[in-house]
Amino acid sequence: MKKAAILGSTGSIGTQTLEIARMNKDIEITALAAGNNIALLEEQIREFKPKLAAVWSEEKAAELRSRVRDLEVKIVSGMDGLIEAACEPEAEILVTAIVGMIGILPTIEAIRTKKDIALANKETLVTAGHIIMSLAREKGVSILPVDSEHSAIFQSLQGGQEKAIHKILLTASGGPFRGRKREELADIQVEDALKHPNWAMGRKITIDSSTMVNKGLEVIEAKWLFEVSVDQIQVIVQPQSIIHSMVEYRDGAVIAQLGTPDMKLPIQYALYYPERRYLPGDRLDFTALSQITFEQPDMETFYGLKLAYEAGRAGGTLPTVFNAANERAVALFLDRKIRYLQIPEIIQACMEAHLNISHPTVEEILKTEQETYEFIKNRW
Ligand code: NDP
Repeated sequence: MKKAAILGSTGSIGTQTLEIARMNKDIEITALAAGNNIALLEEQIREFKPKLAAVWSEEKAAELRSRVRDLEVKIVSGMDGLIEAACEPEAEILVTAIVGMIGILPTIEAIRTKKDIALANKETLVTAGHIIMSLAREKGVSILPVDSEHSAIFQSLQGGQEKAIHKILLTASGGPFRGRKREELADIQVEDALKHPNWAMGRKITIDSSTMVNKGLEVIEAKWLFEVSVDQIQVIVQPQSIIHSMVEYRDGAVIAQLGTPDMKLPIQYALYYPERRYLPGDRLDFTALSQITFEQPDMETFYGLKLAYEAGRAGGTLPTVFNAANERAVALFLDRKIRYLQIPEIIQACMEAHLNISHPTVEEILKTEQETYEFIKNRW
């Protein structure tokens, strides 16, 4: 029996992780953590019977405690609760399916307690990759990518040839606005940006996919996961989302992972690595596939991607500014307080105003996050 804890169990990745647990029947869920959706969390507690569940606000935690008082489950709250869930003693693996930089501290603490990490929460690696990867090495912990592109790269690297990587070819769908120019994006509304052509995901990452900031975050995530420079990572638009990413080796060979767009594959692969288990679902039918096409990304229109390369190249606290500015800008856009094109504008303004700190500590990263939020609050 494999024992796992999940941060962000009520979200898109979290619920799909629980589907995998439901299908396989040999995973015991020892801890769950969620933000606000205590109705769904209650259902999950009743079905999976974890020992511990964390909710962000103490008020919601109190409500949940009363709802599940017939069960033997400890309900905790706040950052301490999130960390307690991440470090639940029996879990061997932690699925980080929470959204945002709030995942940094729980992920670090889980690694300290020697749990493998199935990592979906890319924001933690983008902002604290230098800390997380070196701590994982020190503790002998595996960081198993859940992001479909990074899982594809990881799968393409089986055979242990990391040292022979020439470059990583990170594929992108291009999002719902592929092919449009900047002036055509001026009137984009929340509903338009939430329509992803191929993937069904949480709201924040769906907006990030439309701006290509998500691809930028993935470039920085890949830099840390696979120990390459950002300039060894080439983004290629592959609108059908069939090729999930590729590795080009020193000898020119290119190895790719292909499949239908289904996050359950990378989630299951991370949970059972190196075992490949049966997964029901659509299969690729190459005879029915009309085409697989490739394009260069348009980094002038979607310049959030260009800014990510700059942040990834500079390192230090600049990726934190890139990420925190985007988090806040996306939240403002979702609240209809700013226009769509202001998302990259805000990121750029925050990056330009920042004095970079190299090799930041966790405290410096979190301080930079707060300063970025303040900067935005005072201007937009
Ligand atoms: P969702 O928005 O669907 O889910 C986010 C989860 O985090 C929810 O369970 C939410 O709880 C929880 N959460 C948010 N804030 C807090 C908090 N303060 N304390 C505790 N829990 C909190 O996001 P996704 O599942 O789409 O994405 C999760 C992560 O995975 C992101 O980093 C994303 O970039 C990454 N990712 C997602 C992919 C996808 O296909 N969705 C693909 C690859 C990566 P609640 O809803 O109860 O408030």
